[in-house]
Amino acid sequence: MELNELYETIEKIGVLTFSTIHEGEVHSRSAHFNGFDQDGLYFRTMANKPYARQLLETGRLTVCGISDARIEHKGAVPVFPPSITLRLIGEVRRVPPEVIIEKAKTNAMLETAAQDIENYPAMADGNFVMHRAKGELFDVDFEKEARDHKVIRTRFSFGGATFNPAGVRITDACIGCGACKEVCSFQAIEEGTPYRCIPEYCDDCGSCLKVCPVDAIQESLVF
Ligand code: SF4
Ligand code: SF4
Repeated sequence: MELNELYETIEKIGVLTFSTIHEGEVHSRSAHFNGFDQDGLYFRTMANKPYARQLLETGRLTVCGISDARIEHKGAVPVFPPSITLRLIGEVRRVPPEVIIEKAKTNAMLETAAQDIENYPAMADGNFVMHRAKGELFDVDFEKEARDHKVIRTRFSFGGATFNPAGVRITDACIGCGACKEVCSFQAIEEGTPYRCIPEYCDDCGSCLKVCPVDAIQESLVF
């Protein structure tokens, strides 16, 4: 996935949750990206906020958001409307004010950031870029209104980050009984020798691990 495609999705979601670490605690707040270029995704805050200091101390940031967070109910059963969830795990660095001002001459998305540098002293050192990250899009249609699969997962990276593939792993110990395929409500297992998990459809729910008679299925790797 290219950064322009990623940014289009980010714009559709709007406000996201940005999380940092401080002394072992996770700190989250609502925020948004305000532009992108070949160097990554840009965002900003007031330079003296603890948030900015945590970004500088660790250089680490995770971001999460969903395009439609409503929960409806069919009787007592919660129903989640179709939506796209984004998560990013990455590295950030501060962008000097003169760099933002220069970039804004050819990148309209950064014009407001450049103006704020002129207008608010606290904004001068408050611009950051997520320059290296791995991410995942989780396209959900739990009621299968528009397609046959509840989830479609897409993993990607930029800036040289790497990631593990999604999904459980079925080993050669598989005896082909079909129990995993039968129990998988995500239709993420196909027949074969051995059977195979289709990573983009797998939810990592673990039901298949519970029913395999020969422990041929290994849990998914951490992203
Ligand atoms: S349940 Fe286990 S043995 Fe049976 S098909 Fe699936 S992986 Fe193979
Ligand atoms: S972990 Fe869940 S979604 Fe993934 S293959 Fe197994 S049963 Fe299907």
